[in-house]
Amino acid sequence: QAKILRELHDKPAVTKDGTEIGLQANIEFPEEIHHALSNGAVGIGLYRTEFLYLAAESVPTEQQQYETYVQAIQGLEGRPLTIRTLDLGADKVVEDLTPSSLWNERNPFLGCRSIRLCLQNLPLFKTQLRAILRASVEGPVKIMFPLISNVMELRQAKMILSDVKEDLEDQGIGYREDIPVGMMIEVPSAALQALTFAHEVDFFSIGTNDLIQYTVAVDRGNERIASLYSAAHPAVITLIKEVIRAAQRAKIDVSLCGEMASDPEFTMLLIGLGLRNFSITPPALPEIKQLIRSVSVDQCRRVARKVSGFDSNREVLNYLKGEAGKIM
Ligand code: PEP
Ligand code: MG
Repeated sequence: QAKILRELHDKPAVTKDGTEIGLQANIEFPEEIHHALSNGAVGIGLYRTEFLYLAAESVPTEQQQYETYVQAIQGLEGRPLTIRTLDLGADKVVEDLTPSSLWNERNPFLGCRSIRLCLQNLPLFKTQLRAILRASVEGPVKIMFPLISNVMELRQAKMILSDVKEDLEDQGIGYREDIPVGMMIEVPSAALQALTFAHEVDFFSIGTNDLIQYTVAVDRGNERIASLYSAAHPAVITLIKEVIRAAQRAKIDVSLCGEMASDPEFTMLLIGLGLRNFSITPPALPEIKQLIRSVSVDQCRRVARKVSGFDSNREVLNYLKGEAGKIM
């Protein structure tokens, strides 16, 4: 087993017919980079920076954030790092940081979380952006905004980024001017307006964990209704398909970083829908790579076409399990 994994590590994630698939990893701390690379990741597609805040005893300073990001960049030795700005709130709360009003929200997942919280706490947001920009001279860093639901929100976030760049400029502090800026597609409104958004960002990353919960109105952590929470829901698949298509039309990169990308049952479907970049949890990398190497794009397209004719998650899942089972 160890030998198979070692051999797999040096082989690229290409389909049988030679289509290259970008396999990146999701991390919460820079310490995980070593594991991600040893499992074959070609970069980090999602760095959940809020964990720096969740783990710290007090709010991390700009310098502490800067050093943490530099540590991550150095660990990657030239491979890309997508830093997602703070995604606090809802299930990820920090007492020092979150306004007490947040604790009284009746619907925290629909409340002041993530980019919304940042846009209402500009010093917090700007401090993080400064740290990211300062670190960006050390390697190929990208910035990604979470939970964008509205174009005005994206434009505001980009404006603040420009302000921070200007401040750095004035202070003679270096940063990468053309740092790529992307957004998560994890709210149905953003998915439905993907083509508009695609003209305003350099890349998308589809966050199915949230996209599913907001599409089917099922709290992603509620056990009682867990059976209704499904990546195989035809409505979810339609949204993903449209987002990929919008990115293709606008010629921007699109990746998928929700748990769905780590689940081998969905690999063929996603490739068939046109997805060429996955960002997944490090332990799942070898299995997904092996699967990618065992299929052809044509075969995946047939799977996607077949799935588009189904009307229930059960039907979709049964079929996908069967197809994956034939290969693995
Ligand atoms: C997602 O929503 O799919 C995602 C990747 O973000 P998180 O799980 O951190 O909310
Ligand atoms: Mg999310």
